[in-house]
This record gives sequence, structure tokens and C-alpha cells, in this order.
Amino acid sequence: METREANQFDVIIVGAGPGGSSAALYLAKKGRNVLLLDKAVFPRDKVCGDAMGTRAVAVLRELGIAQEMENIKHEKVYGVVFSSPKRKLVQIPFPGTDPKTGKGGYVVRRELFDDFLFQNAKKKAVTRENFLVTDLVWKNDFVVGIKGKNLETDQEEEFHAKVVIGADGANSIVATKLGLNKTLPKHECIALRVYYENISGCSNNIEIHFVDSLLPGYFWIFPLENNTANVGVGMITHEIRKHKVTLEKAMFQVIQNDPLFKERFKNAKVISDVKGWRLPLGSYHRKAHGNGWILVGDAAALIDPFSGEGVGNAMVSARVAGTVLEQAFKTNDFSESFLKQYEDGIWKELGSELKTSYQLQRMGRITPLLNLVIGKASKSKEIRETISGMIANENAKHSLINPLFYLKLLFA
Ligand SMILES: Cc1cc2nc3c(=O)[nH]c(=O)nc-3n(C[C@H](O)[C@H](O)[C@H](O)COP(=O)(O)OP(=O)(O)OC[C@H]3O[C@@H](n4cnc5c(N)ncnc54)[C@H](O)[C@@H]3O)c2cc1C
Repeated sequence: METREANQFDVIIVGAGPGGSSAALYLAKKGRNVLLLDKAVFPRDKVCGDAMGTRAVAVLRELGIAQEMENIKHEKVYGVVFSSPKRKLVQIPFPGTDPKTGKGGYVVRRELFDDFLFQNAKKKAVTRENFLVTDLVWKNDFVVGIKGKNLETDQEEEFHAKVVIGADGANSIVATKLGLNKTLPKHECIALRVYYENISGCSNNIEIHFVDSLLPGYFWIFPLENNTANVGVGMITHEIRKHKVTLEKAMFQVIQNDPLFKERFKNAKVISDVKGWRLPLGSYHRKAHGNGWILVGDAAALIDPFSGEGVGNAMVSARVAGTVLEQAFKTNDFSESFLKQYEDGIWKELGSELKTSYQLQRMGRITPLLNLVIGKASKSKEIRETISGMIANENAKHSLINPLFYLKLLFA
């Protein structure tokens, strides 16, 4: 029987968010000896809008834990309400959802969602919480492990593996040590989140509001259980700097003064701190593989540049990592040239949508276009159905960047 040193693993995963825990589940299911590390102790908060797209749910289904997810406190959503800068409102149903059967999207606090994934990973992988990774261990040109600190004892420890996965989010230490975590203000967003209770007029829809003072960017209200909601705002970092926007101030001004919100928030109460975080967007293709290492999720900068969704993409990158690394173990090849398949795989799966979303993000700066689309959709069922189809289908979404679509709308 093969013996193994206590600090030697097949795979080390740095970070146990949705990317890291999903990767641990995929790899441990295939019999790999996985060490999953996080500096936090679960359950822990993560600044997010808490909306789970269809991609995240598809991965949960594949991992066999989608049904269990129903037991976590959440709110089901069946569509999205948009408002235009001219303050027109439109509701677009999510295709394939049905309030009668409960088949819908989820809004679920990340504190609960991430803990659910982590506890599942813990059943199959070796886990260490309260462990801050501080550096990579190299042998020749290969990453062969990590160094870090046990935050309880302050003791330095070192672990080794055939491959290290950086799943440590937007401020990834793994990407930083590899020289890849550069600040690119045009390709990242800053977003704030605060929890409220008792906002009136909430429904089983997520709400995305394009408000003049926050363009290019948006204000959201995502409903949660027990009459609470996740409220927030996000904007491209370059635009925040250029227009000297103080996001928190801008958000509360909208809440207090905008005719769509001032009544709705009249009796509402803030029930958390306002917290902000960086979103590395997939409008920039960050290198995500090398000798003995790969990056998944935010560490690989895979967030949708239009919607800001990153949970589903992090989980998809974990699935691709699981598939490619299984082949790497079979051939015992963890070289950059072999692991290129991983990066090719994620960009094959997500690249086209990320590109479309980047173009949409750029078009979203054109206020008259937002007014045109939302204004026309508010009056026409046919246009609402067309947009609903575009939400679900990547090819159909592509038509949103076709000038013909807007020309047709002008005459609709
Ligand atoms: C305000 C805001 C709103 C958002 N809204 C949405 C939304 O509604 N829907 C959506 O899909 N996405 C949303 N996103 C994006 C989403 O939060 C991320 O894309 C997602 O969390 C990425 O998952 P991840 O596993 O890659 O990283 P993370 O979830 O960030 O997890 C990284 C983990 O690594 C750990 N870690 C970090 N450094 C170290 C270290 N040195 N040592 C050990 N552990 C470490 C952290 O503790 C953390 O647990 C939002 C983001 C923000 C900021």
C-alpha cells in the first residue's frame, strides 16, 4: 500500500467559497485526497447580492445536493423587474420557472449557501479553517504546495500536493504570488451590500434599477425570507474614480429621494453594516493555469461583466477543473502545457457569454438605449417574451448586441 506523509495531498485548494468547495467535491468524489483550506471559520459572511443563477443550480444538481438546498432559508424568485433611467418599470419572467411548482431561482444568504457547500465538502475532503495561506512552495518551475499560518496557534505550516488550486477570491493570494492579481479599473467593479427589513412592494422577483446617478452601474433589491432583502449597488471602478462617486452616499440618496423608492423604504430598517468588495470581471482574460497550479472563480476573474454574477461561473470553473485534473492524475502530468486544457475549457464554456456581457455592459452606458428597451418592453408582451428568452439562451442574448434589435424596437 502507498504511504503518504501527513502533509502530502493530491490537491490543495486555497479558499472554500463556492469555487473551492465545489472543486473539492468534484475531486474528492473521484477519490482524490483533497486538502481544502480557508482563513475563515464557517459559517462566514461573504459580501454578495445572494442571487443564484441557473449555472449554480445545475452544478448542485450534478453534485447530487440540489434537493438538500431546499432546506436552507431562501427566497424563490421567478423573474426580474427592471427600471429605466426614465423610471419606467417592466417585469420579465425567468424562462422555465413556475411559481405553482416552486421551480425558480434562489436568493440565499451567502453565509448559509457557502456553509452548506463547505459542510458537504467537509464530508469528503480534509479541511482546515482558520488557516491563512501566505505563500506558494516551488520546486524547480513547479508549484508543489503552500505555506501558511494556523490563526489559532500562530504556527507556520507547510503542505504539499501535485497541484494547487487558487480558489481564494478577488484578493487571491495565489494569483498575487503568481503576479496575476493586477488592479485593472476598467475590468473590475466595486459593489456594496446592505440587508434591510420591511421594504414595501417586494415580490418574488429580483429588481435591477438603472438610475441616472449610478450609471453605468445599477441599484438592486433582491428579496429574502421573512420580509428582508439584500440591497446594493455596483459600478465599474474606473467610472467611480472618474466621476468621484461615493458609492454608499449615492446609494442612500437613491433610497431616500428617488420617486420609485422613497415610499417603499419609508418604514424599512437597515439590519446590517454596509459592506463592499471588489469584483474581478471576465471582460479581461486572466491567465488561469501553469506548472502545478490553476485558478478558479474570482481568483481567475470570471465574473459576468454585465450582471455581476460570479457564483455560477466559479462553480462551473470548479467542474472543468475536476474533469481536467482527473486526466492530469491519470497521466501524472501537471505541466503548464497539460493544464492549458483547463483554461481552454473554462473559456470554451463561459467565454462567449462573458464577451457578450462585456458588450452589453458598454452599451448600458447609453441611457437612451436603456430607456428604449425598458420603455418598449413595458408596453409589449412580445418584447418581454423576447427578452425573457434572451436571459436563458446565450445565442439569443447575443441578439441584444445586434443594432438590428434596437432598430426593430424603434418601430415596434
Ligand atoms: C457586492 C457584491 C454582490 C455580488 N452579487 C452577486 C450575486 O448576486 N450573484 C452572483 O452569482 N455573484 C455575485 N457576486 C460575485 C460573487 O460574490 C463571487 O463571484 C463569488 O463569491 C466567487 O466565488 P469564489 O469561490 O471564487 O470566491 P469567494 O466566494 O470570494 O471565496 C474565497 C474564499 O477564499 C478564502 N480566502 C481568501 N484568501 C485566503 C487566504 N489567503 N488563505 C485562506 N483562505 C483564503 C476566503 O475566506 C473565502 O472563503 C457579488 C459580489 C459582490 C462583491
